[in-house]
Amino acid sequence: ANRIVVKVGTSTLTYANGQINLGRIEKLTRVLADIVNSGKEVTLVSSGAVGVGIGKLKLKEKPTNIREKQALAAIGQCELMHIYSKFFGEYSHTVGQVLLTRDVIEDEHIKQNVCSTFELLLQKGIIPIVNENDTVSIDELENIAKFGDNDNLSAIVSVLIDADLLIILSDIDGFYDSNPKENPNAKLIKQIDEITEEIEACAGGVGSSLGTGGMATKIAAARKATDAGVNMVLANGEEPSIISDILSGEEVGTLFT
Ligand code: ADP
Repeated sequence: ANRIVVKVGTSTLTYANGQINLGRIEKLTRVLADIVNSGKEVTLVSSGAVGVGIGKLKLKEKPTNIREKQALAAIGQCELMHIYSKFFGEYSHTVGQVLLTRDVIEDEHIKQNVCSTFELLLQKGIIPIVNENDTVSIDELENIAKFGDNDNLSAIVSVLIDADLLIILSDIDGFYDSNPKENPNAKLIKQIDEITEEIEACAGGVGSSLGTGGMATKIAAARKATDAGVNMVLANGEEPSIISDILSGEEVGTLFT
């Protein structure tokens, strides 16, 4: 895989209390910088803006009001990019912020513009960092499916830039035949070649308390990516070095083909 997209979820970027996990982000940037050094092209799809905004404003809890969440996303996105820029900068890498709304898939002209921006950034060895533009589109924060969530967004980006591999990092080792947090006998599925109704049923409902997508959105992302010929690996982001393991062909996580 030469062109890869890595998606990190809120559960990888923040502690259970919602505060940003700087150590994790530092490790992640170090691993990704090294992968770019080895000659590969890396695009990062990162959640976490609202969480960072909450930390920055020292709020006790996540607001429920949409406008407040959008304002927090605006504050947090800026701070999040600052953190990424700083860490990547330590390894002499440059990042570019790409904030998308769903018109990127609906309007051919916009789609072409976005594609050519990605091409140029990647050609120059710059790491695009992608998120949904929450100031414009309230859908993700409202959990109404449009881009819907960053799992879906990462699949869309992978297809858009014709990536060789999409890696989605979460707080779980891969896709299990049932939710391991509820069923201690759940078994990890190493490879899924076809997303059947049975597989979809294993995904259950929405995921963690931090209000992210859970497995259903990851299965939907896998379907979107593999339908367009992009393989996807779902793996645990606790140790970001797992990305290098995946790229060197180690069998970790769940591979969707
Ligand atoms: P992220 O914030 O990384 O996107 P989520 O919390 O949204 O992660 O989703 C991961 C969670 O999905 C897991 O921690 C697990 O509790 C839950 N889950 C539900 N069904 C499954 C399954 N079949 N296999 C693995 N995890 C599952």
